[in-house]
Amino acid sequence: MFILLLGAPGSGKGTQGKILAERLGVPKIATGDILRGAMKAGTPLGREAKKFYDAGKLVPDQVILGLIKDELVKPQAKDGAVFDGFPRTSAQAELVDKTLGERGQRLNHILLLDVTEEELVRRLHGRAVQEGRSDDTSEAITTRLRVYQQETAPLIAHYAQRGNVHRVPGTGTVEQIAEEIKRIIGR
Ligand code: AMP
Repeated sequence: MFILLLGAPGSGKGTQGKILAERLGVPKIATGDILRGAMKAGTPLGREAKKFYDAGKLVPDQVILGLIKDELVKPQAKDGAVFDGFPRTSAQAELVDKTLGERGQRLNHILLLDVTEEELVRRLHGRAVQEGRSDDTSEAITTRLRVYQQETAPLIAHYAQRGNVHRVPGTGTVEQIAEEIKRIIGR
């Protein structure tokens, strides 16, 4: 089963994705985590991504498309995965659709974690204090929320046409939201 978690930065994709992937016994693939690992290790990918990442901008598709492709062909993602943080652009969505489609697979559920802008800002600033991510500065937070609206939110309409988008209210406890997701996907 392939599940896509859609939602703005701070909407809880990482937290819910982890719970869900563990329950389903499938890997969680998070492009943000891969980029953070690459930056920490100082690989060419990490060096290329850093200036975009730190500014809160999207890393260009030219770089990300190859990364997504590599992840999707891994044996552990053969029968299912939870996607966290991608696709984020229409080119990425096309690549995911095409790659799964060629294997006779598809995104089974698209979960939209819906959190108000006010709450997102509050959470991201709170996380900045706790985690110290290099893109949790005030400026980068503002950019990330704007980039989400401009480049990623239009994907909701793209997927809604197919009718498998479920809106998950992102307020409540982590457990309540996880329960709601379980109810929606039926496992
Ligand atoms: P995230 O951890 O998903 O919030 O991602 C943090 C940052 O990594 C984003 O602000 C982008 O700079 C970069 N990033 C992560 N995933 C993608 C993606 N699919 N496409 C482009 N940039 C990405």
